[in-house]
Amino acid sequence: MQTTETKTEVKPIDCSHYIDGKYVPSGNGKTFENVNPATEEVLGTVAVGGKDEVDQAVKVARKALKGEWGNMPIRKRSAIIRKIGDLILERKPELATLETLDTGKPLWLSNSVDIERAAYNFHFFADYMTSVGTESYQQDDIAIHYAVRRPTGVVGLINPWNLPLLLMTWKLAPALAAGNTVVMKPSEVTPMTATVLAQICTDAGVPDGVVNMVHGFGETGAAITAHEEVDAIAFTGETVTGTAIMKSAAPTLKKLSFELGGKNPNIIFGDANLDDVIETTMKSSFINQGEVCLCGSRIYVERSIYDEFLERFVAKTKELKVGDPFEQDTNVGALVSEEHYKKVLSYLDIAKEEGGTFLTGGKAADVDKGYFVEPTIITDLGRESRCVREEIFGPVVTVIPFETEEEVMEQVNDTHYGLSASLWTTDIKRATRLSAEIEAGMVWVNTWFLRDLRTPFGGMKHSGIGREGGAHSFDFYSELTNVTVKL
Ligand code: NDP
Repeated sequence: MQTTETKTEVKPIDCSHYIDGKYVPSGNGKTFENVNPATEEVLGTVAVGGKDEVDQAVKVARKALKGEWGNMPIRKRSAIIRKIGDLILERKPELATLETLDTGKPLWLSNSVDIERAAYNFHFFADYMTSVGTESYQQDDIAIHYAVRRPTGVVGLINPWNLPLLLMTWKLAPALAAGNTVVMKPSEVTPMTATVLAQICTDAGVPDGVVNMVHGFGETGAAITAHEEVDAIAFTGETVTGTAIMKSAAPTLKKLSFELGGKNPNIIFGDANLDDVIETTMKSSFINQGEVCLCGSRIYVERSIYDEFLERFVAKTKELKVGDPFEQDTNVGALVSEEHYKKVLSYLDIAKEEGGTFLTGGKAADVDKGYFVEPTIITDLGRESRCVREEIFGPVVTVIPFETEEEVMEQVNDTHYGLSASLWTTDIKRATRLSAEIEAGMVWVNTWFLRDLRTPFGGMKHSGIGREGGAHSFDFYSELTNVTVKL
């Protein structure tokens, strides 16, 4: 195992595939280097899986579907799922450190959000699964109809790099709760916590073959999406990748759940509580380096408070500390990879060409090593600007003033994305009216990213297909058979 110097006892790990309850290398021994984006040091190696490894993983997953797992009483399965959550919490310091090493995000954030919520995903679904029912109807004295629930089958779980463990568990917990077996593919840039998670599942009592994982690049994911014995794909990632997956899954008619990109509006009316607006807008703009699909990167502010909003927002943003993610007072860590860092910087060049005014940032942060970008607020860009229309997925927001509700709503919906929106107003009638008009899967009124795992989570338009959360997740990971008994 390779190690690197960190301010922690936890050492980074080399990442192998996990098939049938064991860590295994690729058949051809191929690996690539995993890089710490905050230091540019090599953390370790990662196995590169291809069609062979995916095929092995799918075959054992299919076999496990028919074994002990498929026939396990619900209470026993629920206890195992709960135990996975418990073990995640027990190993929180290690998992949080690995997440920070892999992603560059502040350690306090890995601890308080990523790992905490990953554990809660299992605790939530361990409870939820014990109360899930199905429909039944009595049709006069003619027949009784009832639905029988069964697992969807072998499910491919393909995930991005921004919230690696949190998003993987957001899929894995309901998939297991509904009795499926899985083949996971973490992002190539953040493979470490998923690698530990696979072992945690076994330690919690998940039978071998139920949870499998193959590392690698897009081709590895493509081998899962094309595999004829995979029944469904749950994918979170970029919209263009979603299109590729849809094509690849079409010949085998897989069930698909997509959580895709967003370019979310943050709409602030003059009657909003500006203290709350500023506090939350700091988070919705820059938390996790702006690498959250739900970030409100298009900020629209009513003209009456535009100057005051900017003055306070800019002042607070200038206070943010960018740098070492292991320092307790760091607000903004490193972007996840060199490739992504270059992409974000390229948008800053575009903003300059488009005539944008930088009120903060606009450049790489002054740090010796690593992929750090200063939190950036841009004004004076029009609605046609690429920076206003395209997902940058970094610590970069645009701010645009508006005069009327009609004017702002036209801009809000003028996008092919439809993931989420934040609406700031104390006028309840306006809040309910506009919430219904905004073309997004989730609208937060006077808040942001406030989650209840029972609620539908997902996007419309090019931001997703289907919803996750509570019954929505369960329905995706289940098939229903309606039985009609003639009386
Ligand atoms: P990508 O779409 O690039 O990658 C996501 C995963 O898909 C990775 O594991 C990737 O592998 C894999 N992959 C790439 N190509 C293929 C393919 N052809 N077939 C199957 N799998 C493939 O997304 P990012 O990792 O760049 O993540 C950022 C994106 O995720 C943003 O657009 C963000 O908005 C979105 N996102 C959406 C969320 C939502 O809930 N709507 C939540 C969080 C993020 P590899 O990277 O290893 O090559």
